[in-house]
Amino acid sequence: MKKVPLIVRAVTSLVMLLLVGSLFSRAQSVVAPQVADSLINITRLNDKTLLMGLAADAVTAIATQKGIVIIDAGISGSLSSQYRVILEKELKRNDFVYVINTHGHHDHTYGNAAFTKATIIAHENAIKEIHDQWSDTAKVHAGLKKTLKQFDERLAGFPKGSSEWQEVFCQRTRYNCAYEDAVNHVEVRYPDRLFIDTLQLSMGDIHLDMIYFGKSHSESDIMVYIPEMKMFWVGDLFFKYGRPSFDTLDKQHLYQYRKAIAWITSRSSESDIVINGHGQIMDKGDMDSFIEIIKKKI
Ligand SMILES: [Zn+2]
Repeated sequence: MKKVPLIVRAVTSLVMLLLVGSLFSRAQSVVAPQVADSLINITRLNDKTLLMGLAADAVTAIATQKGIVIIDAGISGSLSSQYRVILEKELKRNDFVYVINTHGHHDHTYGNAAFTKATIIAHENAIKEIHDQWSDTAKVHAGLKKTLKQFDERLAGFPKGSSEWQEVFCQRTRYNCAYEDAVNHVEVRYPDRLFIDTLQLSMGDIHLDMIYFGKSHSESDIMVYIPEMKMFWVGDLFFKYGRPSFDTLDKQHLYQYRKAIAWITSRSSESDIVINGHGQIMDKGDMDSFIEIIKKKI
């Protein structure tokens, strides 16, 4: 028998040990899920802009002269890492410079971790909002597990492979990515460039205008506008037909709501495209309806 040097044997044993360890950990289902690329939607909004995501994730990527800007990062770091790889192939570049969080909810911010070199921009209230959501990790795990169970119950009610089943399956897969990330301690990446009222960013060929809307769907809702594209991003503030995602407004924020409405009105035009935080592509009519509803409340 050929004599194997001790160091080689030691390394071989270590590799075997790691392999067995990784197989064991797979059995314990701690490996971050890899989602089939075919389940991930990708829409080209214009020559610079892509909107992508699995189910209700809506991550926008804008290729500018000064780097790629992401608006909303999705529900999971591992899932958004997969989006990032697809984006790099589509855009043929990987210079992600900014991620803008439209608000602090976990399904818009946990994906921040995928864009390691980018500066994360958000309203200043997002820090506390994100911190509060993650202060009790056991509660986060239990909450996500409960959501997965609810999806499983809904799945059982549809014939496997039907369009309803497929839709719920994609939502379940999306939440499962967040659950797996949470139990695997994927980092929660906090915003590192904050603003209070408005923020303007020049990216060379395009400009980004941001405004804090005032306390409404969350404590940190902002809108983003790109004048060169006549496009608004409104996060979860409203859905199709201008349907707001909140019932009441805070009297202490009346000044801010009025200011935000004036800001929107001064920018709005007939050809506006309005993107919401879960991928709905809307128009000026939806924005006008939302403004009418808010005006009645203030
Ligand atoms: Zn939200």
